[in-house]
Order: sequence, then structure tokens, then C-alpha cells
Amino acid sequence: MTKSISCSDAGVDCGWSATAETEEEILAKATEHVKESHKDMAINPEFAEKVKSLIKDT
Ligand SMILES: [Zn+2]
Repeated sequence: MTKSISCSDAGVDCGWSATAETEEEILAKATEHVKESHKDMAINPEFAEKVKSLIKDT
């Protein structure tokens, strides 16, 4: 099973998306993307929870 996430699912006007095998990998990719492209967004436990809630199994 592949997990996926995209910025648009979070209500962010951004075309980024990622897929990975594990929740940890998705979180790592999302964190990296946010650091690069959404510098006003905070990386904190709430961010991690939000990412996990947005992950979709495909
Ligand atoms: Zn984005």
C-alpha cells in the first residue's frame, strides 16, 4: 500500500504532493517541503498531527 499527501488537501494553494511507503517517510518529505516552500508554516507537533491526518492510503 502506498501513502500519499498533497498540499491542496491541507487547503494550501500549492501543487506539491508526495508518496511514500510509511507515515514517517511522508512526514519527512512534508517537513522538507514546508521548510523549502512554506517558510511561514511552523514545524511542530501540531504540524505532524495534521500531516498524519491528511495521509491517504492508495
Ligand atoms: Zn506546498
